[in-house]
Amino acid sequence: MKRVSIFGATGSIGQNTIDLIRRAPDDYDVVALSGGANIAQLAADAKALKAEVAVTAYPERLSDLQDALSGTGVEAQAGATALAEAADRPADWVMSAIVGAAGLEPGLVALKQGATLALANKESLVTAGALVLETAKASGATLLPVDSEHSAIFQCLTGEDIGSVEKITITASGGAFRDWSLEEMAKATPEQAATHPNWDMGQRITIDSASMFNKALEVIETKEFFDVGAAQIDVLVHPESLVHAIIGFNDGGLKAHVGSADMRHAIGYALHWPDRKELPVERLDLAKTGQLNFQTPDPARYPALRLAWDVMEIGGMAGCIFNAAKEEALDAFIDHRIGFLDMATVVEETLTQLSSDNSLIRAEMTLDMVQNTDNHARATARHVMTTRRG
Ligand code: NAD
Ligand code: MG
Repeated sequence: MKRVSIFGATGSIGQNTIDLIRRAPDDYDVVALSGGANIAQLAADAKALKAEVAVTAYPERLSDLQDALSGTGVEAQAGATALAEAADRPADWVMSAIVGAAGLEPGLVALKQGATLALANKESLVTAGALVLETAKASGATLLPVDSEHSAIFQCLTGEDIGSVEKITITASGGAFRDWSLEEMAKATPEQAATHPNWDMGQRITIDSASMFNKALEVIETKEFFDVGAAQIDVLVHPESLVHAIIGFNDGGLKAHVGSADMRHAIGYALHWPDRKELPVERLDLAKTGQLNFQTPDPARYPALRLAWDVMEIGGMAGCIFNAAKEEALDAFIDHRIGFLDMATVVEETLTQLSSDNSLIRAEMTLDMVQNTDNHARATARHVMTTRRG
């Protein structure tokens, strides 16, 4: 029996993880499940999977969760401290699928207690890559990528020497506005941005796909996870979303990972690693697919992408600032307070304002310092937005 916990269980990645676990209930002992405002889903899954504890991120929803779980034997908890405590409960495998910087702490706690951490929460590596990797190293815990591109890279690199890698290319679908002009993108609504051509994902990552902030986060995630230089990373727009990553080796050979756009592949790979087991994903028929297309992303239409290289050059806390500013700008876009293209402007302005502060950028990377920097960057981004509206 594998003891598993799922943080962000009610979200898109969380539900796909539960789908896999439900197919083999005798193989898993569920320790903790966490969610947000969807108490009914959290309680139903906790009951069905006989979890030890269910945690909602929102303390004001604790009594609802307690009511929903009364008489089931599942403990009900709420809030950030309860999340960290749940992550500290011994588990063999922990899924980190909370969206945003809020996912960092439970992941760190799980790594500290030695659990294998399946990392869907890309914000952890962007915000505090060095801290996450050091924490895993110190406890001997295994970190496995779940982002489809990073799972693809990881699979292509198995059995290879990272020293022989010349280039890592990750692909981008181009998101909802792949074929839109800049003028059209300037007027785009959150509802339009939240529809993805190929993947079925949470609202925030779907909008980040349309702006390519998602790809910018993934470029930084690639650098952190695989310890390669910024110049070795490349992005190609690939409208079919079937090739997830391509590794170029020093002998001219390329290895690509190809598969249907179904996150249960990457989740299942991490769940069964180092083995491979049968997964319920569509088998590709390449003859039917016919064509695979690749294009260089247009820098004018995707300014977020350029910022990823700025962040990697600045280093230190730049990733934390970048992500926090992006989360604030995304909230403002979702609330119709700023336009779609304003998000990149706000993030760039925040990064410019804070990157000259060496005591901030070069601060020691502890959880406290990361959370302080995150708060500071959010306040700066909000200020930038207020002054812009002026
Ligand atoms: P989602 O919005 O569908 O779900 C997010 C989960 O996090 C929910 O359970 C929600 O209740 C919880 N949550 C939200 N805010 C929280 C907070 N402040 N504190 C605690 N919990 C909170 O998101 P998703 O699409 O499943 O994505 C989850 C993570 O996985 C993100 O980091 C995303 O970038 C990454 N990811 C997702 C996909 C995908 O296909 N959905 C692919 C690759 C990577
Ligand atoms: Mg991805």
